[in-house]
Amino acid sequence: MEGQHLSTPERTLSASTMKAYDLVVIGGGSGGVGAARIAASHGATTLLAEESRIGGTCVIRGCVPKKLLVYASRIGMEFEDGQGFGWSFQAREFTWGTLMGNVANELTRLERAYETTLRSAGVQIAHSRAELLGAGRVKLSANGQIIYAKHILIATGARPIADESLPGWQFCATSDDVFQWLRGRRCGEFHSPHTLGDS
Ligand SMILES: Cc1cc2nc3c(=O)[nH]c(=O)nc-3n(C[C@H](O)[C@H](O)[C@H](O)COP(=O)(O)OP(=O)(O)OC[C@H]3O[C@@H](n4cnc5c(N)ncnc54)[C@H](O)[C@@H]3O)c2cc1C
Repeated sequence: MEGQHLSTPERTLSASTMKAYDLVVIGGGSGGVGAARIAASHGATTLLAEESRIGGTCVIRGCVPKKLLVYASRIGMEFEDGQGFGWSFQAREFTWGTLMGNVANELTRLERAYETTLRSAGVQIAHSRAELLGAGRVKLSANGQIIYAKHILIATGARPIADESLPGWQFCATSDDVFQWLRGRRCGEFHSPHTLGDS
């Protein structure tokens, strides 16, 4: 989206509540992070606004945690198969809380790495929801600051929905829900958040 032309580096327009950038990116997921980093590395003054966690769906609640959970599930199957190959085990125990704690630590490490990479490229980060006001104007909800930008990139991703037209939809969990399950104990004991909430 194009607004007024700003050829100078970031400049304060009047009070500290008004700033201008070549590019404002709304959303710090895969798309937003990549665009902001590359634009800044080419010299564009760039602000990235993220209302949740830097890394977005892929890092925080998508590709990365999904792969870690899949790897964890495979190890259980390897134990089963191992018996046919002569392996035996005294005790075999799986602790969901340990897995989820370690997954959370890894996501935090990646989030920080993304932030460091962005800042190193010269991107300014606003930990705030951003609201598009019109051509070349964005408002940061966290402090009410109005930002002016030559270009605005909307990279806000998507959210899972529960399709209530599907019979039994209330028994379904989205992937976002699954990554919040902290209280499951053993394989086969996981329930939808609706039943977990009671335990
Ligand atoms: C469970 C799961 C597994 C997946 N696995 C894979 C995989 O293995 N391989 C693969 O290629 N893809 C995978 N994907 C898809 C991949 O995660 C997405 O395609 C990708 O993250 C989309 O990136 P994005 O930048 O468009 O949006 P997102 O990553 O969703 O980022 C959007 C960001 O914008 C922020 N935001 C929204 N509105 C505002 C606002 N108004 N102000 C400020 N910030 C805002 C959000 O908080 C979010 O952080 C998976 C997705 C899921 C759900």
